[in-house]
Amino acid sequence: MNGGLVFNETLYPGVEVKYTCDTVIFQDRSEHQDLVLFENPVFGKVLMLDGVTQVTSADEFIYHEMMAHVPILAHGAARKVLIIGGGDCGMAEEVLKHKGVEKLTQVEIDRSVVDFSKENFADFNAPVFDDPRFDLVIADGARFVAETDERFDIVLVDSTDPHGPGAVLFTEEFYRGVHRCLTPGGILVTQNGVPFLQREELVISVRHFSGIYKDAAAYIAAIPTYFGGHMAFGWATDNVEARKTPLDVLQQRFAEADFDTRYYTPDVHQAAFALPRFIGDAVAEG
Ligand code: SAM
Repeated sequence: MNGGLVFNETLYPGVEVKYTCDTVIFQDRSEHQDLVLFENPVFGKVLMLDGVTQVTSADEFIYHEMMAHVPILAHGAARKVLIIGGGDCGMAEEVLKHKGVEKLTQVEIDRSVVDFSKENFADFNAPVFDDPRFDLVIADGARFVAETDERFDIVLVDSTDPHGPGAVLFTEEFYRGVHRCLTPGGILVTQNGVPFLQREELVISVRHFSGIYKDAAAYIAAIPTYFGGHMAFGWATDNVEARKTPLDVLQQRFAEADFDTRYYTPDVHQAAFALPRFIGDAVAEG
């Protein structure tokens, strides 16, 4: 026990989120970032990188289900998926639930995040490491998309915020690299922060998407860990129909996928593209 210990999240100027800590499970500085894992009575295990919360065992399902299942079920025939970042491997777990996915490549810059998530988040990521479809590459995601000859139906950017090693994953050049390695009609989804606090992050990403992809949009989910209201996911594709996939089609695909979710439903999928005015305005400005 570490009685009275508190971790502060210092992402936004003027706002600090305090987590009480029952136990520090691990704390270290890797080659790329400061990493701490601790136990909190509400959120369970909390992973912070450079003082910013990345994932918690209590609500990871919301973020991971919404980021993985929305594009995969909208696409309808995804065989090859690429995750950039995603070190805790919760995203990989959701992607691999889709039996039609033949290969999942994950490009993570920091091996220590994966090693240590394997040990400490086995409750949600254990199936990933025994799955022959999973291919882990330790490299910079921007470099990977610029150089690879492979093509992917879905690219999920499960990154840190645009600071430190994650900054490059919010650049126009990176989004062009992703476009180059998408199959025709392929879909890019990005984590784009909480618009109430990080509006510019969304505006800038959507602006970059608009110059490259035929459809540039965003959808939302409410994730308690990511303080400040809705979280935005960026959406970019040349398949302008994918975002408007009819409900009956989503229902059929989800029934055929045949796995349980705790947040995702086809109705939630469709509703997630209905944006509150202030978020819609940020997307329109992009
Ligand atoms: N769900 C989280 C959030 O929204 O805060 C993100 C989780 S995941 C742990 C983010 C991962 O992105 C980290 O493991 C980090 O090492 C990785 N990452 C950051 N920059 C990267 C880059 N340039 N290439 C590949 N991975 C990167």
